[in-house]
Amino acid sequence: MLVVQKYGGTSVGSLERIQNVANKVAKNKDENKDLVVVVSAMSGETNKLIDYAHYFSKNPSPREMDLLLSSGERVTAALLAIALNEMGYKAIALTGRQAGITTDTTHTYARIKEIKTDRIKKEIEDGNIVIVAGFQGINDKGEITTLGRGGSDLSAVALAGALSADACEIYSDVDGVYTTDPRIEPKAKKLDFISYDEMLELSSLGAKVLQNRSVELAKKMGVKIIAKSTFSDNEGTIIADKKEGEDMEELLVSGVALDKNQARVSLRGVTDRPGIAAEIFEKLAQKNINVDMIIQNASKDGKTNLGFTIPQNQLLEAKKVIESFDHDLEGSDYDEWVAKVSVVGVGMKSHSGVAAVAFKALADNNINIEMISTSEIKISMIIDEKFGELAVRLLHEAYGLDK
Ligand code: ADP
Ligand code: ASP
Ligand code: MG
Repeated sequence: MLVVQKYGGTSVGSLERIQNVANKVAKNKDENKDLVVVVSAMSGETNKLIDYAHYFSKNPSPREMDLLLSSGERVTAALLAIALNEMGYKAIALTGRQAGITTDTTHTYARIKEIKTDRIKKEIEDGNIVIVAGFQGINDKGEITTLGRGGSDLSAVALAGALSADACEIYSDVDGVYTTDPRIEPKAKKLDFISYDEMLELSSLGAKVLQNRSVELAKKMGVKIIAKSTFSDNEGTIIADKKEGEDMEELLVSGVALDKNQARVSLRGVTDRPGIAAEIFEKLAQKNINVDMIIQNASKDGKTNLGFTIPQNQLLEAKKVIESFDHDLEGSDYDEWVAKVSVVGVGMKSHSGVAAVAFKALADNNINIEMISTSEIKISMIIDEKFGELAVRLLHEAYGLDK
């Protein structure tokens, strides 16, 4: 039996905790499992390295950033191997490159292209526990790349897929996927099972318990993920195809997510001519600005209002783009202090009136909804950031998720 395990930043956050992980890994090895263990950097380490770079430059080279950031995961990988060796276990630590992970050339947000598994397979055959530094790979030019924040989850899923592992266990400081972030709503309930589609929505909408790209890849490759706690032996949450959960009653709503990393751009008096929206959003796309929700009002006297949301850290870049359209609009406003709160569930498809429950719950508590977007399995609302946590609790209760 081959299992890929991934231990996140909090799980390896101190030397004692790395020893704790070594003990857990050793116990699994004693049960005769073949193990590939992916590790994150110690918690806070990646942010610290980013701050170091920003001490010297507002705009450091992405290539150098990748070289810098990949170091955090190497430290924990090597330390875990050293700890296991000391306990009498055969273990070897590998960088992303040594593990055969190749990516495209997009520095700091690279996509995995291929994993050559020969080296890992050989090390397993030699009896080694293989420890892999997460979050990194190498591109065609031989340059180190990283996979975007939270990217060690992606390393683990990709390795599990490439090695046809029996399972991919993602260990963190929570013992599974909950109906919402248990730090915001202590009444949140742990789910035994969640489908890839629902998990993908939850993680894309802010639930960082799993990185969204890792869920997307797991679905594509059919990798079964089990989210578990490093600090308890509780059963975790299975993330897999719908089939496995068929016997479970279909829940209307499976969870609520909060994303505070949102900013809103409002354009007033935009000249309403064909092609204007295309021009604006094309230019934003050229700058890799991720536009999420868009609202355009009915036009009046040849003018219209246009609003959209983007990630907070792209606001400056977006302002520059909008300034280049000065001649086509009367004015623009920017609001950093917005949050997106979302309700997710495959059961929504077949029920009408689901959205109204959310709107009422917020309205009854005087929370103004600034933008709305819906799909078959989610409702997202933009609200004032200071009401983010409250809105999560209200929606959690309104849909009876605490029951
Ligand atoms: P790691 O550092 O191990 O990758 P993360 O901090 O990225 O772990 O993810 C775990 C955190 O995700 C939890 O501490 C929890 O606060 C947060 N979280 C957000 N939404 C959820 C949810 N629906 N279920 C469980 N945890 C969630
Ligand atoms: N260390 C990286 C981050 O903090 C990757 C990860 O932990 O998954 O984003
Ligand atoms: Mg994470």
